[in-house]
Amino acid sequence: MAGEAQADCVFCKIVAGEIPSTKVRETEHTLAFRDINPQMPTHVLVVPKAHYPDAAALAVADPGLAGAVLAEAGRVAEEEKVVDSGYRLIFNTGSGAGQTVFHAHVHVLAGGGLHEKLV
Ligand code: AMP
Ligand code: ZN
Repeated sequence: MAGEAQADCVFCKIVAGEIPSTKVRETEHTLAFRDINPQMPTHVLVVPKAHYPDAAALAVADPGLAGAVLAEAGRVAEEEKVVDSGYRLIFNTGSGAGQTVFHAHVHVLAGGGLHEKLV
């Protein structure tokens, strides 16, 4: 069923506490933790605790939860003090775009190289 934990999903395991993570923020329905392979000085992932394969699928199934994930990304940026210097939110969607973990997540990136626009 949509939203149910998947036994083979690394982020479901992090949400369940079965794999350690460096927690940044937590709400009833979301978790933010540091990326294990940071690409910038600030590199935090925000996930819904419920499992959805990607951000678009999450938004279709539960728009409120998708909004909560985005709001948490903004709060992470505030706590990391990167709002003034700017930050980038990235949703890699599909393996062809580099998605490697198929549990919806947004990357919160800041602190270097963001002047190089992608689009
Ligand atoms: P993506 O490539 O968009 O699917 O992003 C997946 C991200 O998850 C990558 O940036 C990985 O470095 C990160 N990642 C994978 N395993 C872990 C883990 N156990 N703890 C924290 N981040 C992880
Ligand atoms: Zn999952």
